[in-house]
Amino acid sequence: MNSNKLYAQLEQSVALLQEEKENKLSIICAFHEAVLVFTPELNPRIINDEAKVLFKDYLDNTAFIETVPFSKNKKATLTFHIKPWLDELMASPSDEPKEAYIWLKDPLTLKTKPLLISGKALLTPEGEVRDLLVVFYDRTVYAQADTQRRLMEAAFNSYDGQFITNEKGYITHPNDSFCALTGLSAQALKSITLTGWLDKQVRLKTSSHEVLTTLLETKHWSGEVELHPMPDTTFYAVLSISMLLDEQMNIEHYVATIQNITDIHEAQLAIEQMAYYDDLTGLANRRLATEHLETAIRHHKRHHSYASLFFINLDRFKAINDSFGRNTGDLLLQQVAKNLKSLLREEDTIARIGGDEFLIMTQDKATSKNKATQNAYHLSQKISKRLNKNYHLNEITINSAVCIGITIFPFADNDSAENLMVYADLAVAAAKRRNNNKTYFYEPSLSEALIERRELEQALTTADLDAQFQLYYQAQLGTNKRLHGAETLLRWIHPELGFISPGKFIPIAEEGRQILRLGHWVMGKAFTQAKLWADQQPDFNLSINISPIQFHEVDFVEQTEFMMEATGVNPINITLELTEGVLIADTESALKKIEQLHKLGIKISIDDFGTGYSSLSYLQKLPIHELKIDQSFIFRVPESQDDIAIVESIISLARSKKLLIVAEGVETQAQAEFLNQQPGEILIQGFLYSRPCTQLEFEETFFPEKPAIH
Ligand code: C2E
Ligand code: CA
Ligand code: CA
Repeated sequence: MNSNKLYAQLEQSVALLQEEKENKLSIICAFHEAVLVFTPELNPRIINDEAKVLFKDYLDNTAFIETVPFSKNKKATLTFHIKPWLDELMASPSDEPKEAYIWLKDPLTLKTKPLLISGKALLTPEGEVRDLLVVFYDRTVYAQADTQRRLMEAAFNSYDGQFITNEKGYITHPNDSFCALTGLSAQALKSITLTGWLDKQVRLKTSSHEVLTTLLETKHWSGEVELHPMPDTTFYAVLSISMLLDEQMNIEHYVATIQNITDIHEAQLAIEQMAYYDDLTGLANRRLATEHLETAIRHHKRHHSYASLFFINLDRFKAINDSFGRNTGDLLLQQVAKNLKSLLREEDTIARIGGDEFLIMTQDKATSKNKATQNAYHLSQKISKRLNKNYHLNEITINSAVCIGITIFPFADNDSAENLMVYADLAVAAAKRRNNNKTYFYEPSLSEALIERRELEQALTTADLDAQFQLYYQAQLGTNKRLHGAETLLRWIHPELGFISPGKFIPIAEEGRQILRLGHWVMGKAFTQAKLWADQQPDFNLSINISPIQFHEVDFVEQTEFMMEATGVNPINITLELTEGVLIADTESALKKIEQLHKLGIKISIDDFGTGYSSLSYLQKLPIHELKIDQSFIFRVPESQDDIAIVESIISLARSKKLLIVAEGVETQAQAEFLNQQPGEILIQGFLYSRPCTQLEFEETFFPEKPAIH
């Protein structure tokens, strides 16, 4: 072999070797993962393109691999030291590659990238380590899939119940929550279909047929349901069902989620209860009643039918509350509510719309106003019968009665819940004014009366008192018709409306507080008159009515004292008439005022005695001079044994306290005789002896020979 040939051969082998090496290198370089080949001294022999990209920030020195910030966890809080790992790989070479999951932090974005590091020691035929081959596999995609899978698992095992059916509808994949919610095991559910489960445990608000139709049309259905896993257990839930189809539109699966919203449902109920029901009685409140009424108005207008609206008030409830305390009042209201419920049907509306105001709306569907009126009257009788009775509350027995106002509706074209409630309210106020059978049907004249009331209120505010008002006087006579004194009674002679009785204008003036102006005027006039008549008869007494509104003014005593000084009246000629209610409400301050008046020398009389629920205990405490037996007791004397008993007991009570007694409303001889037969002197005031009259008339009758000095 000549040298040339040999060289050529050598050159060829070198070329081949070179080619092989380059081939190997290019294979390594073409590798999609980052590949590093290290010498046994851990110097990189080959770094492929991927590795150059991966470690581009660290390639400056040969020992760069040790500077790369590998970590053992995603958050990069545990460092992965690659040198000991490579040392170990070298120390115990094996056929199997050595692997580890590690993370690499990007110095720019600070994000970590998941990697699988896989290393293998390449050996010489003698078994010496020649190279270390290290591959870094990018696991980003796998990690994402892994997260996804964990998420899916978590979702499927969430708090919400979920299941997947097979194509036949059998529940093949229930999650734990679904099993817990339904009380059925995964095994048991396998033999139950979606519709089977719906039929067995779920109460839908629509039909299951409709659910299926919607599913077929839109592939999805969702709605609120009641879930009854056991006969006495109810969950409220939102059920969502989706239908999965394959490409040929065959049903593959149903996927359902059931979200337990029992908590929310209960909270909602509680809020509704607060917003729409009365705490004390559990009845509907005004708001709910108004809503029902509005619905009913629309219904009856559409169907040309009629129903009735009742307002029910307890007679003298305020007095019961004042005398026996709120607790007792509350108990009474609860019993009334209970009685009303027992009388009416479930679908009727019963509401408490104010203190002692109840509302009833029946589901009557009368075909005419007349028929509705008859039905309403019949019901009102039943209600009165059931509710007018003795109630036993807290060991006290209280007699209570109701007043009922009724309006039949639809009433007019402009009916609204608000209008009808005003009508019923007017009717119940009219019922209250009646003496017996306290039921009243609304009629337009009541609305007219309301308008009139507003006019009167306006007139009272602006009236010139001296021009329009007058004091009348009614005599009070003792034994042998001796003149004891008189009661002043206010009269209003309106320039256009004419004579208006105090029974009408006093309550309006009290409501609008014009009574303060009137009362002041009355006191001034009366004091002046009392002083004049005292000149004629030194022990003459003039009684003046004092409204509770007036009495409760903080400076009432000061005003009285001022008026005494201004008129120069002697207080022995003055009695102030108060009603029992004044003494009961705010007893402490009433007591103080009465004591102060007593010190001024002014006498106090209790007007309309016997009509309030007085506890009588105030009689012990207060310096009172006189009781006026209410006219309602005198009225049936001497016919009614009951009223005789009442009058006699009032008399003996007054005697025991050494009080003067006035009998009011004495109209007949028989009444006067009965009173005269009672032990001791009873003053008589009534039409029998004297009608209320003007000052001049009074003087003509009682001081004829001594003309008054004006
Ligand atoms: P009252 O204080 O109970 O007055 C007695 C009422 O009974 C008076 O009615 C009187 O006219 C009437 N009366 C007297 N004797 C008889 C009788 O034999 N038979 C009948 N059927 N009635 C009789 P009047 O004058 O209409 O006053 C009504 C109410 O108006 C009074 O009831 C009183 O509460 C109030 N009032 C009258 N004047 C004043 C006043 O100046 N100030 C205040 N705050 N209220 C007054
Ligand atoms: Ca009076
Ligand atoms: Ca009276």
